[in-house]
Amino acid sequence: MIIDTHAHLSDERLIGRIDEIVGGLSGEGIESVFEVGFDLQSSRSAIRLSDKYPQIYAIIGSHPHEAKDFNKEIAAEYVRLASLEKVLAIGEIGLDYYYDLSPRSVQKDVFAQQIEIAYEAKLPIVLHVRDAYQDCLDVLTAYKDKLNKGVLMHCYSSSAEMLKRFDKFDCYYALGGAITFKNAKKDDVISAIPEDRLLVETDSPYMTPVPYRGQPNEPKYINYVVDKIASVRGIARERVVEITRQNAKRLFFKYKS
Ligand SMILES: [Zn+2]
Repeated sequence: MIIDTHAHLSDERLIGRIDEIVGGLSGEGIESVFEVGFDLQSSRSAIRLSDKYPQIYAIIGSHPHEAKDFNKEIAAEYVRLASLEKVLAIGEIGLDYYYDLSPRSVQKDVFAQQIEIAYEAKLPIVLHVRDAYQDCLDVLTAYKDKLNKGVLMHCYSSSAEMLKRFDKFDCYYALGGAITFKNAKKDDVISAIPEDRLLVETDSPYMTPVPYRGQPNEPKYINYVVDKIASVRGIARERVVEITRQNAKRLFFKYKS
């Protein structure tokens, strides 16, 4: 069964159909979905969903877009919530220089503060990085000793070459709908990720794979991501499902199923 390691089911485009979406998971071959927060409110919402549905787990943190609103009170609340049984990681955190919705110096500072929270909570981190891979490497290098529970690159969008530079950080890589886009040219990246480092995700309601591009994404479309990886790597889809599941279970050690 597939683990969708990154979704935002609390989004207004999906939350009204949440019972139907969760109810349909097993029929689509999906055993669980990791609901990811991007600020305190959405992190609390992720935890509420994880309380209500056995198939949903929570990842909590402040997205680089929200870095400008991060403060000590929010940090303290993440520390408290991180100990909950179904909170698997701190994320999505990182740097986004494409939109630059928070000043870059603030993004870096808040990224570093949340690495500290994950370290204290003994949890892995889930990274959102866009047009900022070099600065991300610099922050990870400075905090290397605090990354002992692993790192997941969500929606990995850089090159096969860049992959090698993240090797020293116990890094995993999640691929999503973007790899199915006609202009993606990501086949070398799909092939280059080591078998024991590969995960899958949807980022619902974003990143909808072909042939549903233009509609809101949802977990069931993860099957198109699995199929694409299987065809590029030349392995059976069942093998993609099994290795990505084992990798998710290893990284998110609190995950139980
Ligand atoms: Zn996301």
